[in-house]
Amino acid sequence: MSNKNLVVGSGFSGATIARLLADELGEEVLVIDKKPHIAGNCYDYRDENGIMIHKYGSHIFHTKSEKVWKFLKKFTDFNTYMHKVIGLLDGIETHIPFNLNTLYDVFPNSFASKLEEKLLDVFAINTKVPILEFQRQDDDDLKFLANYVYEKIFLYYTTKQWGVSPKEVDGAVTARVPVYLSKDNRYFQDRFQGIPLEGYTKVVENMLDHKNIKVKLNTEFKDINSKEFDRIFYTGPIDEFFEYKYGQLPYRSVNFKFETYNKEHYQSNACVNYPCNYDFTRIHEYKYYLDDKSDKTVIAKEYSEDFELGKNERYYPIPKPENEELYKKYLEDASKLSNVYFLGRLGDYKYYDMDKAILRAIELFEQIKG
Ligand code: UDP
Repeated sequence: MSNKNLVVGSGFSGATIARLLADELGEEVLVIDKKPHIAGNCYDYRDENGIMIHKYGSHIFHTKSEKVWKFLKKFTDFNTYMHKVIGLLDGIETHIPFNLNTLYDVFPNSFASKLEEKLLDVFAINTKVPILEFQRQDDDDLKFLANYVYEKIFLYYTTKQWGVSPKEVDGAVTARVPVYLSKDNRYFQDRFQGIPLEGYTKVVENMLDHKNIKVKLNTEFKDINSKEFDRIFYTGPIDEFFEYKYGQLPYRSVNFKFETYNKEHYQSNACVNYPCNYDFTRIHEYKYYLDDKSDKTVIAKEYSEDFELGKNERYYPIPKPENEELYKKYLEDASKLSNVYFLGRLGDYKYYDMDKAILRAIELFEQIKG
């Protein structure tokens, strides 16, 4: 008889594993979600102005993985949107990540070209250098530049985002936005990128639209008799599954303040970062992603804060050795359960991008399939 599977959480991780089990193994899958909607934090919807709103912050799909891209293309087409981020450095508008063009936006031409020449003596063109490594410079001009970039782009933004300085967060976090020795202003250089033409919720809906998959919203794991299932795929927080027996895994949360304006555009770009001023980290203007037409526009100011159980949502696992130690205790317990699999940002306690979450689910499926 075919296996019965329970998938807890209907974000990309849950939807991917559910679809593969249903499609490739022909097994039955029940997907539950405690929220009143599918798609987890990728959830988006069209508002009354026809603007596609990303309820939990901007999601821009990008991947190097052809496997992930091919899988997703079964459920959606993408537009050709290439994400760029404008940063306001003390009022000067430029591109983030800091690149060779940025030099000319923030410094007088002659100094900028001197810096460009020196940089290209030290680094090969198109190299990406994490800021903490970029700070190790011998030349006085480059030392000055590195300190400028550190202070103007990373110091205050990271302090707002993580509550600590860039030197205190895991280097991999700031390395996501390296100094880029290039004139390419895009935020991502991945071969595949874009926004799903009908939004992310629709992609997940299409993934879950299968005769072997049932979806139950507003349903907690504890409301389900899990003994009825042969396998459980848990994309919720791993510490919650074990009732926090070793303590809570810390997260950062985000608070989005939405505003609607009676004008076509609020800012010149989908995302503007404020690494020097204000309490918010960035402002998203949603209509840019799918080029929505409206005489109104909706923006969200993004404020970072600590996650507190019962008060706000988990967004970012905090990569730190002591958190990793705590996570490993839960992982150890998880390894003793033969039919429960953890995956996703919350299940694996990893700062996954969407493509990495999908890849992880595909790889888990391949492992189970044997
Ligand atoms: N970052 C920064 N200044 C910026 C943009 C990013 O200091 O203008 C740092 C910050 O620590 C942030 C990290 O780089 O958390 C990763 O940024 P990314 O845009 O990848 O974060 P996400 O979109 O996942 O929130």
